[in-house]
Amino acid sequence: MTFSNAVFIRPAIASPGNSDMLRRRSSMKLFSSFNLWIVLIPVLCCPPVGGRAQAGLFSPDANAEIQRKAKKYHLVPVKLAVPGVRIDMRYKKTSASGHPLYLNSMPCFIHESTGAKLRAAQKILKKDGYSLKIWDAWRPPEAHQALWNAVRDSRYVVPPSHGLSLHCYGISVDLTLVKLDGSAVKMPSDFDEFSGSAASNYTGGDPEIARRLKILQNAMRKAGFRTIRSEWWHFDDLHPRGGTRHVTARDLGIKMP
Ligand SMILES: [Zn+2]
Repeated sequence: MTFSNAVFIRPAIASPGNSDMLRRRSSMKLFSSFNLWIVLIPVLCCPPVGGRAQAGLFSPDANAEIQRKAKKYHLVPVKLAVPGVRIDMRYKKTSASGHPLYLNSMPCFIHESTGAKLRAAQKILKKDGYSLKIWDAWRPPEAHQALWNAVRDSRYVVPPSHGLSLHCYGISVDLTLVKLDGSAVKMPSDFDEFSGSAASNYTGGDPEIARRLKILQNAMRKAGFRTIRSEWWHFDDLHPRGGTRHVTARDLGIKMP
């Protein structure tokens, strides 16, 4: 915002009876009001930046700091690693526990070498008119523990006593297909539907769903991912390059619910 217009607001000096001077005084009043509004409109329309930051609505510095820390563990934002990818982190809304596992500000990170494979899969799928939509990627152990507490079924969630999910290393990803314009397509089940219809070997009888699942699995395998039997939406990168280790939300300074 600038106050430079304010310098044009000057008092008009007029002598009574001089009509030319009166016209000038009247137009100067109008001019002054106009300039006053030029000064006021930005003030009225723009909330103070400090106020927004204090409310936690917008904090680019905090995000930059989290990304800087993530980079040390080879974690990168999925949206930067995979151009055109759609992201819908379902654990921000709810989970098998009945509560969200993530706050709205939760970033979607992936190991950088796994991200390169995901980028390759996205390229392959684009030729068939599809895009990937990410449901979950790097998952901090804090969230994994909360999910285990809710599900307690080793077919679907790795028991923390046996080790951590590969999600905690940023090398597993949960995803589905959408059309290139982002519109939904039918797949075997919804995310985290812990039942027989979650199987990667589809037996539901809809040839369109079977064909689409095959397209997804072929693209992901070609890009270097492994499928698992119990969840059609889950893919592992068993050969990430560079260092891998589990990364906690605390490591990155991320708040959990
Ligand atoms: Zn998964």
